[in-house]
Amino acid sequence: MTNSPSKPDQLLRDLHALHDAQAPATLAPHVLLTLGLSDAYWQMVTAIGSVFIAYNKHGVSAVHLADSAADFERYFRDRFHRRTDQIDSPDEKLVKIINRRLAGEKVDIHFDLRGLSDFERAVLMKALEIPRGEIRPYAWIAREIERPKAVRAVGTALGNNPIPLLIPCHRVVRSDGYIGNYALGPDRKRVILEAEGIDVDSTVALAEHGVRYYGSDTTHIFCYPTCRHARRTTGKHLVTFNSEADARAAGYRPCKVCRPA
Ligand SMILES: [Zn+2]
Repeated sequence: MTNSPSKPDQLLRDLHALHDAQAPATLAPHVLLTLGLSDAYWQMVTAIGSVFIAYNKHGVSAVHLADSAADFERYFRDRFHRRTDQIDSPDEKLVKIINRRLAGEKVDIHFDLRGLSDFERAVLMKALEIPRGEIRPYAWIAREIERPKAVRAVGTALGNNPIPLLIPCHRVVRSDGYIGNYALGPDRKRVILEAEGIDVDSTVALAEHGVRYYGSDTTHIFCYPTCRHARRTTGKHLVTFNSEADARAAGYRPCKVCRPA
């Protein structure tokens, strides 16, 4: 056995040497990122304006709105207890994947959710299953992750989503159809949902009339109103229900895609 230093030790020494030599400001963040010593972040324009996105070797770690880079760095340090460094040229592959994801394509992104509980992770992973242009109630997530009574805790977990927009917590709304709270503010939730093709005013109007489900009198299946199957039902075949009990009493069964019950 020799006592030769392991490779990471050598890298760290090189890094310190770089620091002493006043390495170009753009180099150090990439080196720190590669070593897993820091997250890197950049600013990106989205439907709700310019956001800060941070990532590390585990995946995307944060999406946040802030007034300045300094504010973002402070938020990041307070929340994740790590440093993050701005980079001029984020990983091109990652930027492409994020753009495709924001456009509604089903592409896989790695997320760094290490700081969360199993429950919080389960809630966020379930929110990821909701397609663009569709919404589900908080109670749906609770039921799907087999914690039907934890509706309020689901709301809290979504409100604390460290990666809003990319993990679409904005697609989860109150069970009565109102759009509810959002990590980045309820007004922005409306803007994002509308950018994704949801008619928020109609959704709220429907809720005010007590309508919870759409059914088709040809298939005798009932859905959440934004389910892509419900949207295919034409006007004369469309029926509405105020409750699951009403739908079942009329001989309808729940859709296997949106699973409203
Ligand atoms: Zn459906």
